[in-house]
Amino acid sequence: MAALSKVFDEYMRTETCQSFRMHPESCPAHCLKDIPLYLLSNFKYFAPICLLPLLVKLRHINKKKLRQTLEYYAECSLIGAAVGYTINVLICFLRYIFGRFTYYSYLYVPSLIGGCLHNITSDRVKNIFETSVFQCNIDTYLLLRSNTITRLIANSKHLQTYIFMFCSALILQGKYLYNLKGFWFLQPNNKLADFENTENAKCQLHPESSCQQHLWYGMRKYFLLGLTLDLIKTMMSKVDVTKTQSKMWGKVRNFRVRSMALLTSYIGVYRFTHCYLNRKFPHQKNLNHILSGFLSGICYSCYPQSNLFSYALVQAIFTIWNIIRINNFNSKHQVLKYLLRIPFGKILFPIGLANIVHYVCLKPEYCSPLAIAITNGVTNQYPNVIRKEVALMKQKTEF
Ligand SMILES: [Zn+2]
Ligand SMILES: [Zn+2]
Repeated sequence: MAALSKVFDEYMRTETCQSFRMHPESCPAHCLKDIPLYLLSNFKYFAPICLLPLLVKLRHINKKKLRQTLEYYAECSLIGAAVGYTINVLICFLRYIFGRFTYYSYLYVPSLIGGCLHNITSDRVKNIFETSVFQCNIDTYLLLRSNTITRLIANSKHLQTYIFMFCSALILQGKYLYNLKGFWFLQPNNKLADFENTENAKCQLHPESSCQQHLWYGMRKYFLLGLTLDLIKTMMSKVDVTKTQSKMWGKVRNFRVRSMALLTSYIGVYRFTHCYLNRKFPHQKNLNHILSGFLSGICYSCYPQSNLFSYALVQAIFTIWNIIRINNFNSKHQVLKYLLRIPFGKILFPIGLANIVHYVCLKPEYCSPLAIAITNGVTNQYPNVIRKEVALMKQKTEF
């Protein structure tokens, strides 16, 4: 890190935005020209993220849900454009203020300031921004393998599966007991009331259907959901036209059974173990649910993807934090009350964002494809332009 910063400071001493080929026009002209481009880039980037759930739930859609989704889409895109555009303007502005680019004022500080803008949005939008940025940071730490823990986790799919199983148990339990929000791949079973389930050897999770039917309905629903997701992913995948006769055939060959296998096995193990344990041990409701959430997490081994792992880790941390907050809502302990009021998400988001922008442009080898996609989507492919020039600079300075 120190070596690159030194090389960077030396090399960038005389560079301007134009000489470093970040933009050919003057800085004010560049900033003015970019406003519609940033809006367009964000609306394009957030379209599949915000609108795809509509496609999946097409049968249950009504006017109110449609309006809410469109509002959410507009809010995500506008705040993304505001954050991206602020970073863009600050890169030029700080260059002007300091008289030159420096290692941290080049990307880190502009992103830190730009990231603070996410505070003006609703909690729902804040949540998606925070989740993605924290997820990308975890991916980067795993790729950096800078200490024994990250090295161990990054190198072992078995360890990742165990951690994913713990996360799965925690997240599903949070949703089951506290009805916590936040997207998770599985909807937990309905919570059993305390007075129920007194009869031994009878599962009361689904009074209107048998255990086999409950399992079958769940697997069928998640099979179709997974298949839809896999098909959408295939349709949106990039095809190398030089290697295939037609674009359509190339897309067909890109089809992979991923979400389908993951979701079907996840719900299958979850519902099967939950029903089985409820019949065997009807008085251990909470323990049964924790155990079925834990065991179903084994499906991670079907699809061991670092994105999935880091997402589960972020959601598990959110769940722990929310459970602590709910359980200590009426606490008389002053220090604890003060600690629980600290908005850690708001404080950590700009730092996390600055971190990934910095890494995506200067050390892309430590970034996940997700981090590269997010930063490029929000800032109209600007990191791609910067990355190319930084790579050239590294070549010239033989770094
Ligand atoms: Zn400029
Ligand atoms: Zn059952």
